[in-house]
Amino acid sequence: MNGPQRPLPQPSPETQRYWEGCKRHELWLPYCLRCRECFFYPRPFCPRCFGWEIEWRQASGRGTLYTYAIQYRAYAPGFEPPYVTAIVQLEEGPRMMTNLVGIEPDPEKIRCDMPVEVVFEDLTDEISLPMFRPAQPKD
Ligand SMILES: [Zn+2]
Repeated sequence: MNGPQRPLPQPSPETQRYWEGCKRHELWLPYCLRCRECFFYPRPFCPRCFGWEIEWRQASGRGTLYTYAIQYRAYAPGFEPPYVTAIVQLEEGPRMMTNLVGIEPDPEKIRCDMPVEVVFEDLTDEISLPMFRPAQPKD
């Protein structure tokens, strides 16, 4: 994105591992050893069972578009309309709020349940944001 920069995420102790993965262009999710399920957003305990036995697992980066909205107004510097805010249903289970990129912000082209895959936008040397684009055909 050109123009003014988006506000940068501030990694916390709970999210440090997540942002380290993003920096390497890998999507990592916290995983509850009791529920045997991933969750999102990162926090130090499981939101289902409140257990603290958590480990990190690399996600496939694949999912489907759960829902979206096309933003036509400039709400904040660094967010140049039109752009697409989206909730992606990750293959691993959790849903993630993100941006849909690599497709025209046009309701005639965007379809709920369309397959999507993660891409990363490097904002700085330390911060890369996960976004999703329509899944590309495999070779
Ligand atoms: Zn749990």
